[in-house]
Amino acid sequence: MTKHLKIGITGGIGSGKTTVCSIFEHLGVPVYNADVRAKQLMQESEDLRKKLRLAFGWDVYNKNDELDRAYLAKIVFNNPPQLRILNQIVHPAVFDDYASWVSEQAAAGHPYSVKEAALLIEAKSYKELDKLIVVTCPIDIRLERITKRDGIRREEVLKRIENQLSDKDRLKHADHVIKNSTNFSLIKQVLTLHRSFLEQLATSEPVA
Ligand code: ATP
Repeated sequence: MTKHLKIGITGGIGSGKTTVCSIFEHLGVPVYNADVRAKQLMQESEDLRKKLRLAFGWDVYNKNDELDRAYLAKIVFNNPPQLRILNQIVHPAVFDDYASWVSEQAAAGHPYSVKEAALLIEAKSYKELDKLIVVTCPIDIRLERITKRDGIRREEVLKRIENQLSDKDRLKHADHVIKNSTNFSLIKQVLTLHRSFLEQLATSEPVA
């Protein structure tokens, strides 16, 4: 069997993670979006539903049986112990789901796959990956893009940015950096990394 590389992509809010991942997808690389998948699992997994109801009460799901995000957000907002409980319930489920997804991608013959998550470093899950890409973008450009994309106020975006790790701290863990300001072509940077991952695999020893 040949080796399958597990690549992580992270970055601050509005840095361009999803945009970068869509370029990898165009190159045929499978992408796992941990934040989207977490939301799906919270909706679909019976085990998670049970655990969330036990921890936060029956009203975590509304009368249509849908996750009440606003209710949950109110509980964990500015409440680190409650947020920790939420993460302790959701993270292991995403961890297992990602592990079986990666096995499927490897079995299907994909040489590498990409996992996108906003908090790869904070949740320490980057340690299970082979390489970490950090997407950076100047704060003024992120502010402009996010206010436009989400229709929210600058102050709101700034507050979220201040609650996250700084780019300086993220870069300490980076194996590769993608710069997403107007001066750098994203496609060119992704193509360079794509080629280097394939080259790395071509020269590595096969897994027994
Ligand atoms: P979040 O942290 O909210 O998940 P993100 O890091 O995934 O965001 P994207 O959603 O990829 O970031 O990008 C934020 C916004 O900026 C989107 O509207 C996207 O279309 C736009 N954008 C990203 N990169 C560029 C670029 N190079 N040129 C123009 N617009 C861009």
